[in-house]
Amino acid sequence: MMTLDELSKVLECSVGGCAYNEADACHAGAVTIAGPSGQAECATFIPLTIKGGFGDAIAAVGACQHFECTYNSELECGAPAIQVGVRGAANADCLTYAAA
Ligand code: SF4
Repeated sequence: MMTLDELSKVLECSVGGCAYNEADACHAGAVTIAGPSGQAECATFIPLTIKGGFGDAIAAVGACQHFECTYNSELECGAPAIQVGVRGAANADCLTYAAA
């Protein structure tokens, strides 16, 4: 079982239109990865012109609903880090997703 200190970090996020994004980094305290099976989307994405989060923080992956991902354990992410960007039709996807 993982501990809070072991939460994966969002190493990079290229979704510049998100309120939490600045300089290709996510500054939310934590993100949630959700979306339909096989399509891991960042549910924390929000397209606002104001900036949110903590300027000096790099977001953790607080929860991930994709239990079918090879990195998922007990609905938490066990990857060393993740990258977020646009892969399909969604606004922001977990690019590190890998089907088990
Ligand atoms: S790598 Fe897998 S387990 Fe980790 S956040 Fe992305 S989809 Fe979830």
